[in-house]
Amino acid sequence: MTGPVPVKRKLSRWIPIAMVLSALAIFIVDTFTPLDIAIAVLYVAVVLLAANVFERRGVLLVSGTCLFLTVASLLISHGLEPDTALLRCLVSLSAITITTFLALANQSTTMRLREQAELLDLTHDALMVRDMSGKIAYWNRGAEELYGWRESETLGRSSHDLLHTVFSGSRDAIEAQLLASGRWEGDIIHTTRDGRQVTVASRWALQRDERGQPAAVLETNTDVTERNETQEDLNQARAQLAHVTRITTLGELAASIAHEVNQPLAAIVTNGEVCLRWLDRNPPDLQETRDGVTRIIQAARRASDVIARLRALSRRGVSERSPIDVGEVVTEVVTLIEREMLVNRVSLRRDVASPLMAVGDRVQLQQVIMNLLMNGVQAMSGVNDRPRVLTVRATAHDEEVLVSVEDSGVGVAPEDEARLFQAFFTTRTEGMGMGLSISRSIIESHGGRIWVSRNNGPGATFQFTLPALEAAASA
Ligand code: ADP
Repeated sequence: MTGPVPVKRKLSRWIPIAMVLSALAIFIVDTFTPLDIAIAVLYVAVVLLAANVFERRGVLLVSGTCLFLTVASLLISHGLEPDTALLRCLVSLSAITITTFLALANQSTTMRLREQAELLDLTHDALMVRDMSGKIAYWNRGAEELYGWRESETLGRSSHDLLHTVFSGSRDAIEAQLLASGRWEGDIIHTTRDGRQVTVASRWALQRDERGQPAAVLETNTDVTERNETQEDLNQARAQLAHVTRITTLGELAASIAHEVNQPLAAIVTNGEVCLRWLDRNPPDLQETRDGVTRIIQAARRASDVIARLRALSRRGVSERSPIDVGEVVTEVVTLIEREMLVNRVSLRRDVASPLMAVGDRVQLQQVIMNLLMNGVQAMSGVNDRPRVLTVRATAHDEEVLVSVEDSGVGVAPEDEARLFQAFFTTRTEGMGMGLSISRSIIESHGGRIWVSRNNGPGATFQFTLPALEAAASA
């Protein structure tokens, strides 16, 4: 704001004339009629009229004139003798002075309120005040710009009817929360005057009257339509990137995975041949054949399990939340990279509780765990002077599920700690530097945290938390 806002004067044209005429009439009656009453007290009306049209200086001038006229009347009609006329004059002078003081105080309060109201017009947010029946009582310039209706067209109309408000949850629940806590915020959809739908981040604050009864609601709406669309694009790009990094990780695991599937296939062939031999016997040994077929079925199941897990990991899809056992997810991923650990001479220690329930996207969490395990294996690939040990733990901790992956690898340099989770940060020649950054966005979108700490001995520990199922359900 630059300087005070001038007082708006609605009746400015005729009020000065009325003031002059009134002052003149009062002066004539006060001076030339022998009435024994304090006529000059009526000057307060002139001062009050002045306060409606003039600013401070004008009011003071009018008030001074009235005081002067009061004294002038006294001098003309009675002189300065100490009689009742002098007393009446003093009463009038006090009345005019007090009225002037009160009118100026009132004027400055009104000006301050007006300035504040005009400040509300400066904000780009759409502001409205509605009474408890939903009728609009205030509508700022931001609301005019966003929705297209002028204030005069909206006053007294129901805001939800006018804007066709669409709530994401139940309206009754929202109103109940507003009454209980005095506040509500969330995204809602409004329809503008030209029929466009806009998504707004809406914040409601309840005003109560002096008896504590709900009186009005101040609603602040910020247009987030564009922001949501950008967020949507971003989510899609992220999902695609996550998919690409998953496929890349699976590519790195190709040899291990081929072995993982090959092993049961080889077992199937061997057992098949053995079965044939038992059948060729005279008489055929049916019991041995049955055992062989059972082993074939088990091996085939193992292979198809591996393939099912791989297919799940390589599919691209939107995030799906459901209750999951994090312990089970850890075990599944460990199974997928068991062979990789064997090849790299990494011994695995597990301390995995199950069931360990949280709400989340199974594939995304598999990706995070796989990324942490693979990073651990890679961090130890150059270690030859000590055992390569990877310890994975999954436990319940307060109201959270805590998963940690500890390695005895090269460790993390203090200056890199903050950068590890940034996109494209990598120290590996063939690395993309996306694994940890994607892991972080996955974990944070699940309401959890992920961090790294240096071990007392060699290596690093990566940990993440997720809200446990009960905590997630009540959040
Ligand atoms: P990438 O594996 O493609 O490099 P990540 O985002 O998974 O991408 O990891 C980023 C970097 O963080 C790695 O290049 C490595 O420097 C470091 N890092 C990750 N995990 C570990 C670990 N367990 N020990 C030491 N450094 C690690």
